[in-house]
Amino acid sequence: MRVISKPNEMQTNVESLRNEGKKIAVIPTMGYLHEGHTSLIRKGRELADIVITTLFVNPTQFGPNEDFEKYPRDFARDFQLAEEAGTDFLFNPVTEDIYQDGYNTLISISGITDKFEGASRQGHFDGVATIVAKIFNITKPHYAIFGQKDYQQTLVIKQLVRDFFFDLSVVVAPTVRESDGLALSSRNVYLSPDERTKAVILFKALDEAEIAIQKGENRRKILNAILHNAIRSIPEIKIDYACAADADTLEEPDVFLPGEHVILMIAVFNGITRLIDNALVTIPQDPQVKKHYFV
Ligand code: AMP
Repeated sequence: MRVISKPNEMQTNVESLRNEGKKIAVIPTMGYLHEGHTSLIRKGRELADIVITTLFVNPTQFGPNEDFEKYPRDFARDFQLAEEAGTDFLFNPVTEDIYQDGYNTLISISGITDKFEGASRQGHFDGVATIVAKIFNITKPHYAIFGQKDYQQTLVIKQLVRDFFFDLSVVVAPTVRESDGLALSSRNVYLSPDERTKAVILFKALDEAEIAIQKGENRRKILNAILHNAIRSIPEIKIDYACAADADTLEEPDVFLPGEHVILMIAVFNGITRLIDNALVTIPQDPQVKKHYFV
């Protein structure tokens, strides 16, 4: 595995690899890698000849009161995990080379960013869209691989790719979880042992709502209430949002129709740590409850 920190050096390398006909996959990350990230790297290995993992804690996607300064960093560990998972190039730039003196462009995506993470973290998705566009121009990938863990982010990136004619495929890979269901996150390291135990309520709440959908529940407000009530069983956890929405548009109809894809999304504060999770569910054509009636 080769470590590159200069954008122009990365560009020269990918340009010659593309000329040789190699397919390139990029996995953008902020480092402090875990099994969620390495699953994306392995997906890249499956799809492409060359896998580039990027490691950059992007300041423009953090709000002024967020955890940019204390975001966990461990280059030696990241190097080892990225290499073991099959990375060819670890792109690890410094901030000054990504946001050069006098930089004056931010990408702002509207619509899909208005709600949920976009509403709670003003400016967050401008930072995400900007860094991802820079990474695409630096690494020139055929495939860009992202985790479903950050579901709204995947919609934002798909919008960016469409709107700017980026010539690549966006691949979304499933969320990797601990054995009790907690979604892996670099931020889990902030949790005290007690908070860590309680954090599993996010997964349980999603599971309850998903079971209700399989049994025939399709009313958005009831699904939201199931999520809220489950999380409220742990009073120390404060809900930012817990909602069901159309998985493609994030619209919030009163009722979801059979065959529609619904995204159940949760964001909470567990102590001072903000955690997010989601589940993608299809409204059944033939809910389980009806089957029971006719048995
Ligand atoms: P981050 O380093 O948090 O910016 O995440 C980098 C990429 O890893 C994003 O595409 C995330 O959605 C993805 N990711 C983070 N956690 C997980 C997880 N538990 N399972 C799968 N992908 C993840």
